[in-house]
Amino acid sequence: MTATLPTESTDAAQASTLRPAWVTDARVASWLRWVCTSAGAGTASRTALAPYDALPTIAVPDSTVEDVAAAVDAARHAQAAWSALPYSARAEVILRFHDLLVERQDEIMDLIQWEMGKARFHAWQEVLQVANLARHYARHGEAYLKPKKVRGAVPVVTSAKEVRVPKGVAGFISPWNYPLYMGVGDLIPAVLAGNAAVGKADPQAPLSMLWARALMAEAGMPEHVWGVVAGDGPSLGEALIDHVDYICFTGSTATGRIVAQRAARRLIGASLELGGKNPSIIRADADLDVAARGVVDASFANTGQMCIHLERIIVHTDVYDEFVVRLRAVTAAQTVGQTFDFSSQVGSLASAAQLEKVSRQVADAVAKGATVLAGGGPRPEVGPYVFAPTILEGVTDDMELCLGETFGPVISIYRATDDEDAIAQANRGKQGLSASIFSKDIAAAEAMAPRIRAGSVNINDGASLAAGSIEAGMGGMGESGLGKRHGSDGITRFTNAQTIVSSKVGPVGPPPGTPVEKFIAMANKQLVVLRRLRVR
Ligand code: NAD
Repeated sequence: MTATLPTESTDAAQASTLRPAWVTDARVASWLRWVCTSAGAGTASRTALAPYDALPTIAVPDSTVEDVAAAVDAARHAQAAWSALPYSARAEVILRFHDLLVERQDEIMDLIQWEMGKARFHAWQEVLQVANLARHYARHGEAYLKPKKVRGAVPVVTSAKEVRVPKGVAGFISPWNYPLYMGVGDLIPAVLAGNAAVGKADPQAPLSMLWARALMAEAGMPEHVWGVVAGDGPSLGEALIDHVDYICFTGSTATGRIVAQRAARRLIGASLELGGKNPSIIRADADLDVAARGVVDASFANTGQMCIHLERIIVHTDVYDEFVVRLRAVTAAQTVGQTFDFSSQVGSLASAAQLEKVSRQVADAVAKGATVLAGGGPRPEVGPYVFAPTILEGVTDDMELCLGETFGPVISIYRATDDEDAIAQANRGKQGLSASIFSKDIAAAEAMAPRIRAGSVNINDGASLAAGSIEAGMGGMGESGLGKRHGSDGITRFTNAQTIVSSKVGPVGPPPGTPVEKFIAMANKQLVVLRRLRVR
C-alpha cells in the first residue's frame, strides 16, 4: 500500500531545527510509503512535536478505519505464503534485520531522541533489546514451538501430539515510550511463528516504527507481512482489534481495559502489558551505595517514562537516613540534558501532556504536605518539557501520585519497620508489574520475592535485569496486565495449540461383536490395575 506524501507541508520556519541532517526528504518518503492509507493526495496527516524544541517533526498521513481493514486483509493474504516458508527462511530475514539494526543504530537513536526526547543511552538500550530478541527468537524460537508428543488415549495403537499453528494476523498497539522496542520487539516472535502482523504506530513517535518497517523490507520481509497504520489511537486501535486474530497491546491500564473488552466481544486472545507503580525495598543489610545507584538508574531511566521504572522506595528504618543522604547525592550527580550524544543521563519528557501530568502530581503532593528532597519542578532552561529528577518524602494516600502511576522522574520514599512491613507496603495498590529488593543476603531476598505482587522481582538491580533476561517471561500481575512477553510465552502466545491424534486400528471403542457390558467390565479392571501400578 503506497502512501501519497502529505500535501500539508510543515512551515520551514516552524519546523523542528533539530531534524537530523541525514533525514532527507528522500529518506522520509521511503518511510512514509509504508503507512497503509488509500486516501491519496489531500489525505489528513498529523505532526508530532519534537520534545527538545517543541516544534513539529514530520507530517505523517493518517490511516482510516477502512485502511485498517484493508491492511489486515492484505496481511491475511500474505500470511499463507509466509507461514509456508520453513522457520529458517523467516529467521534469515530477522537475522538480516538484526545486522542492519546494529549497523545503522545511530539513525534510529537519532530518530528516537528526536521524536521522544529520551537520553541517548536509553535509546541505545532499545537497539540492544531488539537485537537480543531478534537473535534469540531467530535461533531458538523453533524449539519453543516444537511439537510435543504425549501419551495416546489407548497405549500402542494410538498416538497423540500437540503442535503449534500460527494465529493468522496479529495486531500490535504500542505506546510512544519505547517506539523501537515496543513497536518491533513483540512482533519479531509473532512473524517468526508464521503470523502476519499489522502494527499501529503511536502518534507521538511514528517515524521510528516506519524506519524499522523500511529496514525490515531491506532485510527481505515481504510487503504485506507487516502492515503499519498511523493516526488516531482510539479509532484505529479499536478497528484493529475488530479485524485481527490476536491483539498484543502495550499501554496504560485504562486503555488496556477497553482493549480487553473489545477483544472479548470477538473472543480473540489478547496480551495486555500495562502500567505499574513499582516498589523497591531497601533491606537493613543492603549495600547502600549499590542501592542508591540502582534506585536512581531504575527511577530516572527513560526520564521515568518506563513501565517498570521505580516510583516507590521503601527503606528499612535503621538505614533510612543514611540511604537518603546517598540517594540525594547520586540524584544530584545526574546530568540532565538534551544532547544527541551520551553526555546526558536524564533526557526530556516526551510531550507537553507528560509535563503537565508530572507537574500536576508533584504540585498536588507538595500542596498536601509532601517534602521535596530533590528536584521538584520543570527545568525550562534545559528544555521545554524537562522535569528535574525528583525525590519526595511524606507522601500520603490523599495525594494523586501515592498509588497512581506518575510516569515521570519522580519517586516517593517511605520508611519500613521490618521486612513484613516492607512487603505489605510494596503490595499496596492494584498493579503488580515490577519490583526490586536490595540486600546483601540474596537467599533472604529470593525468599521474600514470591510474596510481592509483581510480574518480575529484581534483586540488587532496580528494573532492567528482568527486562534483559529475555529467556524469562515478563508481564504484570493484578491491574498491570495479562500474558507475558519474552521467553516461551513471548512466542507461543501468537499460536494456537492443536492436538493431533491418530489410531492404527480405526475408531476406538468396544471391538465389533463385544457386548458393551463386557467391554466396560474389562476397562474397569484395567483402571484398578493401573492405580495399583501407580501409573499416572
Ligand atoms: P495509552 O494507553 O494512552 O496508549 C497506548 C496505545 O494505545 C497508543 O498507541 C494509543 O494510540 C493506543 N490507544 C489509545 N486509545 C485506544 C483505544 N481506545 N483502543 C486501542 N488503542 C488505543 O498509553 P501511553 O500513555 O501511550 O503509554 C504509557 C503507558 O503504557 C503507561 O501506563 C506505561 O506504564 C504503559 N507501558 C507498559 C509497558 C509494559 O510492558 N507493561 C511498556 C510500556 C508502557
